[in-house]
Amino acid sequence: MNQFENAMKQLDNASKIINLNSDVHEILKSPERVLTVSIPVKMDNGSTKVFTGFRSQYNNALGPYKGGIRYHWNVSLEEVKALSFWMMVKCATVNIPMGGGKGGIIVNPKELSEGEIERLSRGYIEKIWRDIGSDKDIPAPDVYTTPQIMAWMRDEYEKLVGHSDPGVITGKPIEQGGSEGRGFSTAQGGAYCTRELATKLGLVPSETTVAIQGFGNAGSFMAKILAEMGYKIVAVSDSKGGIKSDDGLDISALTVYKEKTGSVVGFGSTEAISNEEILELAVDILVPAALENVITAENVGNIRAKSIVELANGPTTPEADEILKEKGIIVVPDVLANAGGVTVSYFEWDQNIKGEHWSEVDILEKLEKIIVDAFHEVWETKEKYNIDMRTAAFVKAIERVASKMEI
Ligand code: NAD
Repeated sequence: MNQFENAMKQLDNASKIINLNSDVHEILKSPERVLTVSIPVKMDNGSTKVFTGFRSQYNNALGPYKGGIRYHWNVSLEEVKALSFWMMVKCATVNIPMGGGKGGIIVNPKELSEGEIERLSRGYIEKIWRDIGSDKDIPAPDVYTTPQIMAWMRDEYEKLVGHSDPGVITGKPIEQGGSEGRGFSTAQGGAYCTRELATKLGLVPSETTVAIQGFGNAGSFMAKILAEMGYKIVAVSDSKGGIKSDDGLDISALTVYKEKTGSVVGFGSTEAISNEEILELAVDILVPAALENVITAENVGNIRAKSIVELANGPTTPEADEILKEKGIIVVPDVLANAGGVTVSYFEWDQNIKGEHWSEVDILEKLEKIIVDAFHEVWETKEKYNIDMRTAAFVKAIERVASKMEI
């Protein structure tokens, strides 16, 4: 099953539970608009190479389409469509006034010079500018796209439309209208979800063990924030391998060590573990924060964590999800656990529209309210229908989108 078929299966499941209006269901089975563009780029050696890019605008019932742009060699139209559907679900789960969108270019950015990436990014905007804008569709960074790329895209867009529109894109550098807190917002949202979950499960932070796979942007900030909240981080990993200490890791010292050596491996008096082993530790909370499809039908039988907080996008395959349900392991799904990122992107857009710049304190206060409210709404939906949290998030999101569409 490809990712889009998988997404449609999730739509069908949620639709059955709420007895969704059949017209709305039919409309939600495809994106409202999909653009496929060819982008000619003058390469440094003088030749011209043509790249293929996509933008999928899934649904804008709740607000302008919103979603990142991915630069990756595996990008495909089906993947971009699925990701735009999941963005619709994510924005609706946390109840922000944004719809679902996603873009991508089939490219290995590691093979391009900085100049070639700039020309590719500007070329993409030249092809899609008529269909984006702060009141239409607001892109953002995703895999292998950066604040610098967002700045080039904004610049190209404003040249083409002939006026300033800083809210056309989020994830910009602070000097370009970016928001305070965007760097750690995904982890911060995940930490609020972890705290609410721990309370529901009757766990006390100082006695709650956490293992985190991935020590990049999402994973390292998650480790730092949870450690500051008093949780015991007993294991972390990155692409080179993992480390474990039953007494808990000193995350500040580990961050300095990782900056110096490039990896967490070999830190202090820790035990070395593999990236497979970290997923199978008997911890209270497991946080996948690296790659997709890491909890699969093959390893799910060995998962001993009491609960999982999905900071990565799509870390659990649908087959593994079914087995986790049977095992009674609670999963806080990605559409809720990592929605802190898109929520602060929405704040960035809001500030740009109003010509304001909010402090980090203000951002955190607003973010906490949105994520905590969403967590409890999803939890109540789970209890009401006796379903898992992922299905509950989809149910809540589809209900919101559908009620707007019906009206
Ligand atoms: P990143 O590139 O900063 O970090 C990725 C981390 O994963 C690195 O520590 C890397 O060493 C590690 N890694 C790579 N291969 C691995 C492997 N085989 N096993 C274990 N670890 C491995 O990326 P990120 O921004 O932290 O994103 C991580 C996940 O979180 C992705 O799924 C992403 O889609 C999701 N996410 C991130 C954000 C955000 O704002 N950064 C928002 C929403 C979702």
